[in-house]
Amino acid sequence: MGKRIIVTGGSGFLGSHLCEKLLDSGHEVLCVDNCFTGSKKNIHHLTENPGFEFIRHDITFPLYLEADEIYNLACPASPVHYQHDPVQTLKTCVHGAINMLGLAKRLNIKIFQASTSEVYGNPSFSPQNESYWGNVNPIGIRSCYDEGKRCAETLFHDYYRKHGLGIKIARIFNTYGERMAQNDGRVVSNFIIQALKNDPVTVYGDGSQTRSFCYVSDMINGFIKLMDSGESFTGPVNLGNPDETSILEIAQKIIQMTGSNSKIIFKDLPLDDPLQRKPDITLAENALGWQPKVKFEKGLEKTIEYFKRVIG
Ligand code: NAD
Ligand code: UDP
Repeated sequence: MGKRIIVTGGSGFLGSHLCEKLLDSGHEVLCVDNCFTGSKKNIHHLTENPGFEFIRHDITFPLYLEADEIYNLACPASPVHYQHDPVQTLKTCVHGAINMLGLAKRLNIKIFQASTSEVYGNPSFSPQNESYWGNVNPIGIRSCYDEGKRCAETLFHDYYRKHGLGIKIARIFNTYGERMAQNDGRVVSNFIIQALKNDPVTVYGDGSQTRSFCYVSDMINGFIKLMDSGESFTGPVNLGNPDETSILEIAQKIIQMTGSNSKIIFKDLPLDDPLQRKPDITLAENALGWQPKVKFEKGLEKTIEYFKRVIG
């Protein structure tokens, strides 16, 4: 029998794909979102499904629902959006986590937390594994997000230790794909849109900083494998694609794949922008039997097709 599953942040990029996958697997989904960075357009195709319900709600306020599992994804993920109102970002990470943990405790159900590679800050070695405690500036412009997510991990573990709550923490590395918001300033969506419009492609810094990009379908499979893993496995566990590329290489690849006339221009590197990001996914492989399958070029092809349709 299907479960009733709460997905906070369900109308965002990752959340909408997760809702879709859970519905396809025969579950009911309660999608909870305040539509700050998400959009009803992302879930429009799900609204006809009788198992799907949208609830407009800000998770910094308590929520009373009945369910069998919670995926807590609510939080703006792009630097432009999480820096727009840093105090609200922290409230979402911390008060939001307390509210969702309280709900999980009352119902005695498992809860998944969408944490992030940002907990590693600007890492002093590569690839990053889960035992690394990170190198994070506590008072910088990215801190509302990085420290908020770190505090949420602390809260999840305190509920686990004190109340025996079933927790599952995923440290998500950069993920891309269909339904990334056009205006959220993340690198893959920015470069594709700029290239499709033949506008200058904006590389920050000299473009030598690296990221490792995971396609959305692989990431969502990882979420579900983690939620369904044995009771004693709490994470945190890295989920991401270890295929590391420099930002300049991504700009060149996207210009070539779109057949664009765009030129690359260089802009200032934002403060505290991490120089390197590459996940060590040994734990995910061993504990979850999970590995990303979609090659970067293949995922980019699909994402480019999506943005062609969206921007017309
Ligand atoms: P997104 O911005 O597209 O989605 C976040 C969703 O949360 C949006 O629908 C937004 O409206 C909603 N939201 C924000 N604040 C809320 C609040 N107070 N109450 C209710 N809803 C709220 O971002 P995404 O890329 O889908 O990220 C989803 C989660 O995964 C986030 O928690 C993010 O930190 C994490 N994550 C994502 C990535 C990535 O590369 N996409 C990387 C690391 C971590
Ligand atoms: N970036 C860039 N040009 C852009 C947007 C981003 O060069 O138009 C860079 C950014 O400085 C960072 C990398 O791309 O080094 C990834 O940025 P994003 O905001 O996607 O994710 P995050 O920094 O959170 O990993």
